[in-house]
Amino acid sequence: AAKAAGRGRYRFYEPSMHNNAANRQMLENDLRGAMERDELSVVFQPIFRAAGEDVVGFEALVRWQHPKRGLVSPTEFIPLAEECGLIGVIGEWVMVEALQAVHSWPASFRLAINLSPVQFNDPRLVEMVASALAAARVDPSRLELEITEGVFLTDCDTTDATFTKLKELGVRLVLDDFGTGYSSLGYLKKAPFDKIKIDRSFVRGAGVDESRNAAIIRAIVTLAESLGMDTVAEGIETHDDLQLMRSLGVSEVQGYLFGKPLPMSEAMSLAHRRMADQSDGLFSLETRQ
Ligand code: C2E
Ligand code: MG
Ligand code: MG
Ligand code: MG
Repeated sequence: AAKAAGRGRYRFYEPSMHNNAANRQMLENDLRGAMERDELSVVFQPIFRAAGEDVVGFEALVRWQHPKRGLVSPTEFIPLAEECGLIGVIGEWVMVEALQAVHSWPASFRLAINLSPVQFNDPRLVEMVASALAAARVDPSRLELEITEGVFLTDCDTTDATFTKLKELGVRLVLDDFGTGYSSLGYLKKAPFDKIKIDRSFVRGAGVDESRNAAIIRAIVTLAESLGMDTVAEGIETHDDLQLMRSLGVSEVQGYLFGKPLPMSEAMSLAHRRMADQSDGLFSLETRQ
């Protein structure tokens, strides 16, 4: 059917097909074979210290290059993987793959990896993370696990214990997409997060409601600081965004302004160029878009 639609025609992206059960089933079948066919990959997006603009690490993001559909977004296939029980294997693959990259990095760089709530509630999670770290010989303090509020929705008995065990292991915990969904301040009390990632909806769409967004971000920063947590803002696209985040006291920034997620070698050369430019004092954001 995809062939019949002709080259360059995105037949499968028609919105009407998204909820089509047969299409979903096809995508699910394809996803089952995707790892064997080597269609998944990991890309890396740099994270910077807001003040000095030095690289503090990378966030790993999974990509699926479908042979017929092209690039399928993780916002589409991660939920599918969660529903059809594939998230465990995919998540572990991402972890192992991304940890391999860490060896070629400066020792100060951290690796951030996203965990789905389904992975989080898997009783084998802590063991999986521990053995992936051991196999890659990466210090746990260099790993940041990004978790969304969704993890608190399934009120699982093991949730608290998992947080404790992950902290004992020595990894850092980040509350991703903070401010969206079912935000409750109770989560911040309950779980030992090291960092809050401010959702890009508070950064973007500034223009419209700039002062409101700024007020919310300022409040999040104050809250994080008083709880001893760092902050990172995602979705920094313009120099104005960056200036605003700095003035609001956000500690780290990430976004297209600095670079899109890239394959490892390109992400590293971006980081190296960046560091070289900085030490030369020649760095200019305008040339790095
Ligand atoms: P996220 O963890 O909040 O990741 C940030 C998303 O924003 C990424 O989309 C990234 O490419 C995008 N982004 C980065 N900078 C900018 C910017 O300046 N502007 C805009 N508009 N977008 C920006 P991506 O890679 O499509 O991932 C979407 C979501 O899929 C992620 O959101 C995460 O929830 C999930 N995801 C991605 N990779 C994985 C994975 O390996 N495991 C799990 N469980 N989830 C993943
Ligand atoms: Mg994330
Ligand atoms: Mg996020
Ligand atoms: Mg997000």
